[in-house]
Amino acid sequence: MTQINIAIAGYGNLGRGAEAAIQQSPDMRLVAVFSRRDPASVELLDSSVPVHAMADIEQFQNDIDVLILCGGSKSDLPEQGPDLAGMFNIVDSFDTHAKIPEYFAALDQPAQAAGKVALLSVGWDPGLFSLNRLFGEAILPQGETYTFWGKGLSQGHSDAVRRVAGVKSGVQYTLPSEPAMARVRNGELPQLTTREKHTRECFIVLEDGADADTVRNTIVTMPDYFADYDTTVNFIDQHTFAEQHSSMPHGGFVIRSGESGSDNTKQVLEFSLKLGSNPEFTSSVLVAYARAVYKLSQAGETGAKTVFDVAPGLLSPKTPAQLRKEML
Ligand code: NAP
Repeated sequence: MTQINIAIAGYGNLGRGAEAAIQQSPDMRLVAVFSRRDPASVELLDSSVPVHAMADIEQFQNDIDVLILCGGSKSDLPEQGPDLAGMFNIVDSFDTHAKIPEYFAALDQPAQAAGKVALLSVGWDPGLFSLNRLFGEAILPQGETYTFWGKGLSQGHSDAVRRVAGVKSGVQYTLPSEPAMARVRNGELPQLTTREKHTRECFIVLEDGADADTVRNTIVTMPDYFADYDTTVNFIDQHTFAEQHSSMPHGGFVIRSGESGSDNTKQVLEFSLKLGSNPEFTSSVLVAYARAVYKLSQAGETGAKTVFDVAPGLLSPKTPAQLRKEML
């Protein structure tokens, strides 16, 4: 089997997850990891794979079929994406929804000029959830689409609770509201407020001598983060925190509730994810789409693309004939 030569740019949670997902893909080979940190300080799962300085990446243009960008959406990808799109076929998980059109344009120009493919905003949201929002709306044009997130650890909200005076350790989970989801699944087409759609739950370890009521009140009234939600604050000890709250679960639901036919028959389309590890799942999606990027590039495609532009069969290592026989 000819293997696709893959490299990873940026080695955090997603980078580590991508390495593991490539190890599960016999049609791929991880040829290098690039980091802005001292390469000697970056420890991979497989120590035989070389780590290089990001500053030297230009020299590797002939060795890499697809580069998976695993940097953060806030400041890494807006800087690295346009640069790397002019040298490599790339795939990333850019998830700042409001800025996707702008980021698409920033990748399209260098990718077109270099004759490369740049696939952006791959993962679960944006990514698989986006596809399911599209399916729902296209198939049931008369109806409403609802996205519920959770149960999931929210990095931004966890950072916010950790900044509260008296908090030693803290995490925040977003939970979809079961009554709201029940109404949607029932085809009621409800108009839901922010407070009705999700609740928030915090697990906090207090500093010695901190007052629990003061901490709880500061959290639940925090504007922008908690004031618009029903928030539960639980106080636990450090041991329980370490044991039960150190993974990164996430997930959610995309539900399209619509009506068809002349009798307005109710139809509900639902897609859900329950993820033990958000970054490991996201990077697994990235790796499957890296395969598609390779095939698109081999077929002569160039420029920026999103999941909407990629045919599902391209994600699979199987041939179109195999897919027709085994899965259709
Ligand atoms: P992360 O662990 O913070 O890693 C981001 C970058 O920080 C890495 O590429 C790495 O770059 C650097 N880094 C990592 N560990 C470091 C350390 N110990 N010291 C200094 N620098 C370090 O972020 P992540 O969890 O992988 O997530 C990356 C992005 O994925 C998020 O920003 C989010 O936007 C996106 N995401 C998307 C989806 C989706 O569904 N589309 C879902 C989840 C996440 P260097 O190796 O170059 O230093």
